[in-house]
Amino acid sequence: MAAAPRPTDDGIVSELARTYEALVFDWDGSTVQDRRAPARTLQWRIEALCALSVDVAVVSSTHVGDIDTQLGARPTGPGRLFLALNGGSELFAVDERGPHLIWRRDATPAEEAALERAAALVAERLASRGLTTGIVSAQLNRRRIALVPEAEWPDPPMAPVPELLTAATARMRGGGIPGLSSVISLARLASKEAGLPEPRITSDGKHIEIALTDKSDSMRLLLDKFADRGIGPGLTLVVGGNLGLRDGVLGGDSVLLPAEAAGISTVSVGVEPTGVAPGVRYLPGGTGTFRTLLDEQLRRRARRRVPWIDEDPEWVLSISGADARWARVDETLLSLGDGEIGLRGSHEQPDPQELPLLLAAGVYTGQGPTQHLLEGPWPLSVNLTTAREQERRLLDLHTGVLVREGAGGSDGVRTMRFVGAGHRGVVAQRAEGPTGRVSPDPVPGPLSDRASASGLTDGRPWARTTSDSGGIAMVIGQVAGRDGALRTIERVAAYAIDPRRPPHVSRAASLLDRLEGMGFERLLAEHRAAWAQRWDDACVWIPDDPEAQLAARFALFHLWNGVAAQGEAAVGARGLTGPGYAGHVFWDADVFVMPAMASMSPPAARAMLEYRLRRLPQARTFARLRGLDGARFPWESAADGYDVTPVSGSANGGRVPVLTGQLEEHIVADVAWAACHYADWTGDHAFLSGPGSALVTDAARYWASRTWTDTSGRAHIRHVMGPDEYHEEVDDNAYTNVLARWNLRRAAAMTSSPDEAAGWLLLADALVDGYEPATHRHEQFAGYDQLEPLLVADVGAPPLAADLLLGPARTSATQIIKQPDVLMAHHLLPGDMPPGSLAGDLDFYLPRTAHGSSLSPAITASLLARAGRPDDALALLDVALRLDLDDLTGMTGSGLHLATLGGVWQALLFGFAGARVDAGALSLDPHLPARWGSLRLRFRCLDRHVELRMTTDSTLVTISGPLSIRTPACNPIRVTRRVKLVNTETGWMVHS
Ligand code: BGC
Ligand code: BGC
Repeated sequence: MAAAPRPTDDGIVSELARTYEALVFDWDGSTVQDRRAPARTLQWRIEALCALSVDVAVVSSTHVGDIDTQLGARPTGPGRLFLALNGGSELFAVDERGPHLIWRRDATPAEEAALERAAALVAERLASRGLTTGIVSAQLNRRRIALVPEAEWPDPPMAPVPELLTAATARMRGGGIPGLSSVISLARLASKEAGLPEPRITSDGKHIEIALTDKSDSMRLLLDKFADRGIGPGLTLVVGGNLGLRDGVLGGDSVLLPAEAAGISTVSVGVEPTGVAPGVRYLPGGTGTFRTLLDEQLRRRARRRVPWIDEDPEWVLSISGADARWARVDETLLSLGDGEIGLRGSHEQPDPQELPLLLAAGVYTGQGPTQHLLEGPWPLSVNLTTAREQERRLLDLHTGVLVREGAGGSDGVRTMRFVGAGHRGVVAQRAEGPTGRVSPDPVPGPLSDRASASGLTDGRPWARTTSDSGGIAMVIGQVAGRDGALRTIERVAAYAIDPRRPPHVSRAASLLDRLEGMGFERLLAEHRAAWAQRWDDACVWIPDDPEAQLAARFALFHLWNGVAAQGEAAVGARGLTGPGYAGHVFWDADVFVMPAMASMSPPAARAMLEYRLRRLPQARTFARLRGLDGARFPWESAADGYDVTPVSGSANGGRVPVLTGQLEEHIVADVAWAACHYADWTGDHAFLSGPGSALVTDAARYWASRTWTDTSGRAHIRHVMGPDEYHEEVDDNAYTNVLARWNLRRAAAMTSSPDEAAGWLLLADALVDGYEPATHRHEQFAGYDQLEPLLVADVGAPPLAADLLLGPARTSATQIIKQPDVLMAHHLLPGDMPPGSLAGDLDFYLPRTAHGSSLSPAITASLLARAGRPDDALALLDVALRLDLDDLTGMTGSGLHLATLGGVWQALLFGFAGARVDAGALSLDPHLPARWGSLRLRFRCLDRHVELRMTTDSTLVTISGPLSIRTPACNPIRVTRRVKLVNTETGWMVHS
């Protein structure tokens, strides 16, 4: 295990060629030589690093008085200074007022007594071998036993270690003890006998310590603190001086490296007579080296060097080389966004095949069906020369940062960018490279929209694109600098967007003033912290399936990017990641994306509903124009809320009429459903009793005026298109009718008019739904069963576009369907469907579903999991997970399929975990596929943070506050913090 005690060959500079975001150092001996003299040289460096948003931590076995008196640092942030003291038993945070305790491990009286006994036992056993030792101190949670007499080896200063070790070993051998490791084993045994189940035994060569905590506890605490700010182990540097082996035993600072610390950079600057443990860099030089390390970090920031990401494969989507055929797909996948602006992941200097776009939510241009998202000024442009075939682009999903490295890192070209999550309307970028390869380009990038203007304001470039209504304005701040042979370029672009009127350039300029006042480091730190908060609200772990885990995290990542958490969120079918579907808003938003957001970011879900609320007047007008009551939401909408569905489209080289705008009326109930689902899931009842109620009641009024009652008293909805667009004009589409029926009933409970309520309830009861109790299944629409009983397998392997293969006319004469239709009703209204009908409908419709829409696989997966077929479910979830990553539809180049991404999260949460809110209780019914030994989900529900750790046999539920938990087999139980569910023959049971 021991490495030769020689410095790492490649020397100090390459060793440090990284920007770290957190620095941890051990105080004793290595970093500060003299433990009494003030450490002024460290003090100002640490304060300066904190001012640049770096988190710094001191780890020591001593107490706060010692360290604080000597260091005297009073950082004012935003980076934090921690003191992790008393060998892992205390944590202090230091600010301008001084240190304050934020955590302490308090020993119980029994633990104190056990420590005392353990120390006495060790001394006694060593004495029996003729080795007199002394218990030299009894600090917080620990006992320290001197192995060599204190007088000979005073402390401080640090004794010359080799001689000390020789002396200690000689002494022990004299007592017939082979070495330090035997003393440690002896101490561990004695401590257990004394009643300490997990004693922490360490040694610096001259002492042996028995404790309740050690520095690994400090490190765990610190890693948690760093994680709060999105700083992972890969961005953390640990500096110690006692990381090697002492007589076959790891040095005291080695416990700074617990298992959780994998990926951390560790450097020893101390005297390591027997070398350092594997993975530890050895840079001797003590305090001098340590100061150089700190200075390097300060210098890199002063020179605006490109910071980096934690290259953790569990979080990083990596694209190697730039393949022209995949250029647009890559660009889409590497998009960034803050919910209000979206930036495609194009190269800084876009290739001709690329489609660089900056889009802003809700800002459209054009009229009627041609309305599309307005292209905003492109913020990035740097002249870079690097071999694109050899480059790497890494998207860190954990922190929302995209980095690029030229030619395997060897040509020195690096860039990084992010769309600020801590602020609205910010794109920040740094680039660096040899001066011959990198040069600044002061002109704002390509502006392809005609209505654009640009100029200089206070010497800074600005650009603006405008439409008849709104616009997007941008002002750029750029600084170019040098670091030796490297050129560095920092660019911050501030945006002002307004869907209603062209924004003043001055708005963007004053935002830029504020951002420049903060500085790049702080902007990045706040961005990372905002992302950390998101992943704290929702996350997924699938340890047995890293690929699925990354793809699922990719889905969550882009959902957050695509939905603003304030104001109104207009979420188009492709979000802000491309021009597909012109940015139009479909039911995709209400039924696929919104339910995901309700469990990831309730304010974002609320903002999506706000988009519908603000367009209620137009929906009422739309209904009135058709001679109907209530509100008729449009199939496709954009800025103004009127229908923008194209009236024709191209197919097989010709034009065909598009009927969705006229016929896909289910959108009306979908919006009402979204309003109710949001309120039920989040517990925001004030929304439904307040502004949201109109979304439900106006939809009910629409259905009441839209239905037709036959002579036998049965009610029908004729001339509609269900979700299955292969069958265009049908009567009594089961999905539409079931949703309308639910809508009428739900609204009846909300309206203040008893007459209206009574009428709606009668009508709901009269609505036909195509259910056939004998077969346990629904007929998709009147006459569907008489169609040619063709199956998808007769045509090809799904997913496939049957309408393209067979032609639309032929397809519509068969039973092949595009996507879940009847099944979609099961997905949205599980409690409203006849018992046993899910299995019946799945069995019938699965072989008939072509998955010709990207919306299809994830929802089908969700239903299969719920129906107890998790392995079949996983096969379809895989399709959904890879849909954009592998461009399965050939359409990813024009943007991500947001409904698929929402569907993925829904399948995990509603399908595999079987989560739903039932009368104010969270109901769970997990079904895990064989491939996954475990699944862990974290999400928001009913105003709580919830975490589920699922295996086939048990589910551990942890909640942030009291919540009622139930399963289909078990009544609700009020849980305060934690509960275990166990899988029994009769289903999941709450184990209290
Ligand atoms: C979609 C319809 C949409 C139409 C026009 C079709 O591909 O399936 O839902 O309305 O395009 O945008
Ligand atoms: C689907 C629709 C969907 C639209 C937009 C179509 O292919 O059939 O259900 O709303 O795409 O994603």
